[in-house]
Amino acid sequence: MSSAPPFLRHLPMGAPLPLVLDSPHSGEDYPDDFDHAPPRHEVRRAEDTHVARLYRCAPRHGATLIEATFPRSYIDPNRGLADVDPELLADAWGEPLAPTRKTAQGIGLVWRIARTGMPMYARKLPSAEVRARIDGYWRPYHEALAGELDRCHRAFGAVWHLDCHSMPAVGDANADDPGRARADFVLGDRDGTTCAPGFTHAVAAALRELGYDVAVNDPYKGVELVRKHGRPAENRHSLQIEVNRRLYMDETTLQPNDGYAKLERDLEALLSAVAAYVRSRVA
Ligand SMILES: [Zn+2]
Repeated sequence: MSSAPPFLRHLPMGAPLPLVLDSPHSGEDYPDDFDHAPPRHEVRRAEDTHVARLYRCAPRHGATLIEATFPRSYIDPNRGLADVDPELLADAWGEPLAPTRKTAQGIGLVWRIARTGMPMYARKLPSAEVRARIDGYWRPYHEALAGELDRCHRAFGAVWHLDCHSMPAVGDANADDPGRARADFVLGDRDGTTCAPGFTHAVAAALRELGYDVAVNDPYKGVELVRKHGRPAENRHSLQIEVNRRLYMDETTLQPNDGYAKLERDLEALLSAVAAYVRSRVA
């Protein structure tokens, strides 16, 4: 039984900064009507498990953290509303759709296939059911994030946004890079369009200082959330940050591994550096 609100908001402790983190894919509250066909442990491999917990230090550095409580395989906040797969539906959508490559890969707004490649459902979904997920989960999440970003921008004239994710250590069948080992971190600014280059550089430099290897826009460029909120010309800076799951968990059991505590400490150091960067630009 899930009666959880669709998101949790962790507000800054102490002096607030115009810095907002969001974790759209770490939700673990599976709604009762999510009748996925594969077993739960296979469906859970879609989650960015533990990501919101790993960034719980953010409010201590003046940042706000928004986390989704629902699973991204139920409805994915990092996809646009037109990214619906007609193959998934029992009836007509009634509005123009613009499925992206993510939908072609089975991982659009509502996932058609699980990470293992198995179909997610043994039935077609009535479009009313998909709309109910949009209204009950996707919209409240987007409104919460947009509300925080707008509030910061009004107060400071600028806002910095880190869209926080984790990635499998090796590209899987529905990735753009199947079979390839990933860097420790991948930053995505959609080829320099969603934030000032200095922000991407500052985050990359802080991570390299901590000893990590960092790739930029390869293989993840950032998807809907940074695309929607990143408008550097308006001093709205959004950057997607993917951390490699092998650094903190067993990808089969989803349990934290021996690296978890070190990564948590290092992310706190990262947040400290990012907060200093933001502070230097609004002082
Ligand atoms: Zn993610």
